[in-house]
Amino acid sequence: MKMELLKGDLTKIDCDAIVNAANESLLGGGGVDGAIHRAAGPQLLEACKKLNGCPTGDAKITPGFNLPARFVIHTVGPVWKGGINNEEDLLRSCYQRSLELANENNFYSIAFPNISAGVYHFPKEKAAQIAIETVQAFGWKHELPKKVMFVCFDQENYDLYKTKLNLIR
Ligand code: ADP
Repeated sequence: MKMELLKGDLTKIDCDAIVNAANESLLGGGGVDGAIHRAAGPQLLEACKKLNGCPTGDAKITPGFNLPARFVIHTVGPVWKGGINNEEDLLRSCYQRSLELANENNFYSIAFPNISAGVYHFPKEKAAQIAIETVQAFGWKHELPKKVMFVCFDQENYDLYKTKLNLIR
């Protein structure tokens, strides 16, 4: 598996699936979730309504509609509440479940934002570490997805990922 770092907007990425940092209702929200729904168009909300929500740490899939990405994997990251409420395991599970869905659907490429590191206040560096470790470990055991992109909206996240990815290369 190849891990790539990109700076920019997840909604512009042409790949098999982008991962949405959603909330348990799957009915849209702010941050990257809002941006994905705006770019995908109203059909995305209609598709999400049929999923009956998603528990924290799990993931569900819909088409990408007007997005360049063919599918959206909606995962629900934990809200950071000090780190004593299983937040790290739940975040690991978000990456694991998203990658499992990509693998089951024979996806070649998938793009992640820094899940939970926005309004859910998970410490950015810890979140990036969990993201990279979980993706790398998945790649050791699975052929697909072949290409995993980390798409950072802001320079701070980009620099964090860059440092961490350089350390494992
Ligand atoms: P959460 O509720 O899981 O914290 P947010 O959407 O608030 O989700 O933030 C998750 C991460 O996504 C943050 O690092 C934020 O900067 C980033 N982000 C926001 N919009 C975009 C976008 N269009 N593309 C990529 N990343 C984005």
